[in-house]
Formats: sequence, C-alpha cells, structure tokens
Amino acid sequence: MRTGAIEVVQGDITKEKVDAIVNAANTSLLGGGGVDGAIHRAAGPELVAECRTLGGCPTGEAKITRGYRLPARWVIHTVGPVWHGGKHHEDELLASCYRRSLEVAVENGARSVAFPAISTGAYGFPLEGATRIAVREVRAFLEKNPALGKVVFVCFDRYTHDCYTRALAEGA
Ligand code: ADP
Repeated sequence: MRTGAIEVVQGDITKEKVDAIVNAANTSLLGGGGVDGAIHRAAGPELVAECRTLGGCPTGEAKITRGYRLPARWVIHTVGPVWHGGKHHEDELLASCYRRSLEVAVENGARSVAFPAISTGAYGFPLEGATRIAVREVRAFLEKNPALGKVVFVCFDRYTHDCYTRALAEGA
C-alpha cells in the first residue's frame, strides 16, 4: 500500500534496499533476538564491532552505524520502551524513537528509511497503539522534511501489516 511517501510492506527488513534501516535494539546495542538478531546476522560481525564503540543507547534515542553486508548503507539503532502497562511514558518514548531515528537519518543524508514495528515483539507494546504512534510521527516528520523521500513500514507478519494499513487509512 502507498500513501504519499509512506509504504507498508510485509517482509524481512534486512532485505530492504533503502538508505537506512532502523533496528529495534536494546540499550546495550550489542545485539539481541527478533529483528535485532536478524539485522546483526545479515550485516556480519563488523556491525557489533562498531556498536561496541557507541557506549549503548538510552530508551527513546537513536544512534547510527554503517550497514556492512546489508543492502542498506546505514543502520539506525533505536531503543523502544518495554511495555509496563502504559503509564510509564511508553507512548512518548515510542514516539521519540521514530522522531529521533528520522532526525539521525536526515542528518546523515538518508532519503529513504525502513522501520520495523518497534517494541511490538519481545517488548510487548500493544500493536494497534504502536502503529498509530508510528504513522502519526512519520507523517508529521515527512511534512516538515521534504528531503526525506520515502519511509517504509516493514511488517514481519500479516496482522502487523493489516494494523499499519488501518492506521494509515484512519489518518492515525
Ligand atoms: P522489540 O524488542 O522492540 O519488541 P522485536 O524484534 O522483538 O523487538 O519485535 C519487533 C517487531 O519486529 C515484531 O513485529 C517482529 O515480528 C518484527 N521482526 C522480527 N524479525 C524481523 C525482520 N527480519 N524484519 C522485519 N521485522 C521483523
């Protein structure tokens, strides 16, 4: 599905041919399960070597590395909030992940960026709320940053894909 500069696709983010892919990392930035593990496996061991130089990353922030063996030139590592019921600033922190990732992307000259559904796997953020926040933040950013040409939401499964499609149709 296409809505302006936003696309939703079902697939594996490590295969995306965009300038930058976003990693749903943990605060250590030293690799983990889920999409983080897939990105490190596909990029090769040089990725964790560069990550070791970064000194971790706080929740809601983002740091950039090269993409090594990935088709993407850059990986932007962001740390989503762990869901603790919704009253621990989870919404604001997730919104910050999307904003900060896009700011870092644009600062480095990226014109196309792909996101996984940050925090909605092991970190337990309810998917519908997470997709609404993602769509809202990306739309707001695109309006203010014409240099960014395209943002892709890469969904690993059909249910996630359907949630994004609904959030886009609803205007989030
Ligand atoms: P978090 O710890 O932030 O919740 P996870 O990696 O557990 O991160 O899950 C985030 C989302 O990424 C989930 O929707 C999961 O299904 C998805 N995912 C896992 N592997 C991939 C992949 N290779 N490409 C795209 N999305 C993926």
